[in-house]
Amino acid sequence: MKKVFLCSISNVTSGACKEDCAYCTQSLKYHTNVKIYKNKPKEEVLKEAKILAKFGASGFCLVTSGLGLDSKKCEYVASLASYIKAELPQMLLIACCGQADKDSLRYLKENGIDSYNHNLESAKSNFANICTTHSFESRVETCQNVLSVGLKLCSGGIFGLGENMDQRIELLKSLKELNPHSSPINFFIPNPALPIKEKVLNRDEALECIILAREMLRDSILMLAGGREVVFGDNQKEIFDYGIDAVVLGNYLTTDGDTPNKDLLMLQKYNLKIGHLIQDRQCSA
Ligand code: SF4
Repeated sequence: MKKVFLCSISNVTSGACKEDCAYCTQSLKYHTNVKIYKNKPKEEVLKEAKILAKFGASGFCLVTSGLGLDSKKCEYVASLASYIKAELPQMLLIACCGQADKDSLRYLKENGIDSYNHNLESAKSNFANICTTHSFESRVETCQNVLSVGLKLCSGGIFGLGENMDQRIELLKSLKELNPHSSPINFFIPNPALPIKEKVLNRDEALECIILAREMLRDSILMLAGGREVVFGDNQKEIFDYGIDAVVLGNYLTTDGDTPNKDLLMLQKYNLKIGHLIQDRQCSA
């Protein structure tokens, strides 16, 4: 029976980002109605992690908005990590806090973070079309820092940002060079406030992206994150048939996902078993 891993996300600092990523509702430039708050209380974050763990999530990602990890943010995320790890030692803890240097990443690792998520987002040749405030190279550099301090690297991207097929392959080639432990792929969800005016990918095109990603990222845990429900609705069997290993349980950063119960019933219907990210896939970064 094929195993599927369940990951979950807590947006611990949300919105008010000065960057201009054209796909992101957390950028101040696009005046969306996304919630703005800083440093969610640790008790609240732990409660979320415990609820999701009961539903079978074995990965929990602490996400902060903004360009990167300054010392205050690093201290806060590290304190969350050690607090959660003490209560849920079997949970794979991921941090997703933007650009990060090696010292900050080492500090997170020492405090219980197992993996760091930093997506390349789109092909290098498309990057200037989706972001002008930081570079593709800076994203690659953070991913290399993650690997060099011995954290597991989680890195993927978004399809449907106006890129062509060659650029999809280009993105996947860049990811393959990094050989991430896990790779989240997302499908862009249109929002009238955002400058990207692409329609959501249709089912066939999205499946094509999954097939391509599976073929090129053979050793990575391939996760389908944002856009799963919007593109595939209640008929998601094919995503697993074509190689998706993991999904996000519960809500995404700024959009709602299916309820955990609905997802669990779906996995049962498709005869899929819930795997455990640490116990079943203890592979090196
Ligand atoms: S840096 Fe992160 S939070 Fe800020 S706009 Fe870009 S994707 Fe959004």
